Amino acid sequence: MDFRLTPEQEAFREEFVSWLEKNLPDDWDPSRYRNYDSQEEWGRAYQNFQRRLFDGGYTAMHYPKEYGGQGKTLMDEVIVLQTLFSTCPELRAPGVVTYAMAVPTIFTCGSEEQKREFLPKIMDGTHIWCQGFSEPDAGSDMANVSTQAVRKNDHYIINGQKVWTSFAHLADYCILLVRTDPTVARHKGLSYFLLDMKLPGVEVRPMTQITGEAEFDELFFDDVRVPEEMRVGEEGQGWQIAITTLMFERVLGDAIMGAAYETNVQKMIEMASQTKRSGIPVIEDPIFRQQLAQAYIEVMVLKYHGLRSLSNQLKTKIPGPEGSIGKLLWSEPNQRITEAAIGMQGPNSQIMGGSPWTIQDGYWQYSFLRAKGNTVEAGSSEILRNIIGERVLGLPKDVSRAKRK
Ligand SMILES: Cc1cc2nc3c(=O)[nH]c(=O)nc-3n(C[C@H](O)[C@H](O)[C@H](O)COP(=O)(O)OP(=O)(O)OC[C@H]3O[C@@H](n4cnc5c(N)ncnc54)[C@H](O)[C@@H]3O)c2cc1C
Repeated sequence: MDFRLTPEQEAFREEFVSWLEKNLPDDWDPSRYRNYDSQEEWGRAYQNFQRRLFDGGYTAMHYPKEYGGQGKTLMDEVIVLQTLFSTCPELRAPGVVTYAMAVPTIFTCGSEEQKREFLPKIMDGTHIWCQGFSEPDAGSDMANVSTQAVRKNDHYIINGQKVWTSFAHLADYCILLVRTDPTVARHKGLSYFLLDMKLPGVEVRPMTQITGEAEFDELFFDDVRVPEEMRVGEEGQGWQIAITTLMFERVLGDAIMGAAYETNVQKMIEMASQTKRSGIPVIEDPIFRQQLAQAYIEVMVLKYHGLRSLSNQLKTKIPGPEGSIGKLLWSEPNQRITEAAIGMQGPNSQIMGGSPWTIQDGYWQYSFLRAKGNTVEAGSSEILRNIIGERVLGLPKDVSRAKRK
């Protein structure tokens, strides 16, 4: 099998790389890891850069022009995203939910009006979206969602709480899973909404993470009045639409994370060459060399798995449950890789970015802490293994979940 890009695709990649060199934000500093002092500044940087990508014709490559896309191929999109995630992932991060989850869900399941109204404003960076699925009592067990939407003529009244809602404090809209019918089987009583975050009764309370940042929030709904036309699909179709969102979320990781982590491993090799432990460069220590080799192997497994998923997606268009394999292949190795990098730094590993004594501007300290959430967000490792067992390998159902249905 030939994994190389075709000459046309390679020419497109080179064209985009040279566009990117000229169009990164003026204040962008590649040697500084966290370029932004506040979440709001980070959100604005994402939006401005998304606008620049849109104006340059480098966003939503495979979406139709009438929805703000470029009308090109999924392969063009993957080339753009791989380049962005290996060059400036920080500039993309606030848009991950928006782009990987809201866009494909609205495009696949939304009405014509919803597509025309929302997609162009996402593509040009006007709107950031968040995802309101998880609740204090409904994380892995998503069918247990209890936030209620009660129908009143041509609108719904929403009451309840969501939690771990990434970027809710920056978001203009939310893809929201709620219960519209408490009397039927749990997963049949759910509906899916596009919620305007500025509506009266929506309250966002930031939650601080182990990194010290507040990247996600609690969301409270107190008699929030949502028009009927903001429902996606029919009442009761929420479960199926939410699963579609999650499939898209996981498969994006497959196709682009390999490229991003390849850059990470290069950064780790660079760090190991420049850092000494007991007077000897880390890269000469046989134990650390083994860890570097292991990191490289894991990233190559992810990369080639990503290519396999991509070729499936190019054929079938809709991602399937096998996206769970790719999510395991980036989240668990990322924890091992960042832990190994921290170990290589010895006593310096305790120094965060901003200090003159920090190595690579605290990149590994931040990444090590942030990686802790990787095996929980977008489906915990245990749940992904259940999905792979049941839906990819066809093994018998997880009894603990089957009983609750
Ligand atoms: C950084 C981060 C960002 C997030 N962003 C969002 C977001 O934007 N929007 C959103 O809706 N959610 C978000 N989440 C929430 C995330 O989806 C949930 O945390 C996740 O689904 C797990 O749910 P939970 O935390 O309720 O844990 P629980 O479901 O209570 O699970 C606790 C533990 O039990 C295990 N477990 C549960 N059920 C089973 C089972 N059947 N078999 C085996 N083991 C099981 C789990 O694997 C886990 O280890 C985010 C989480 C993190 C960490």
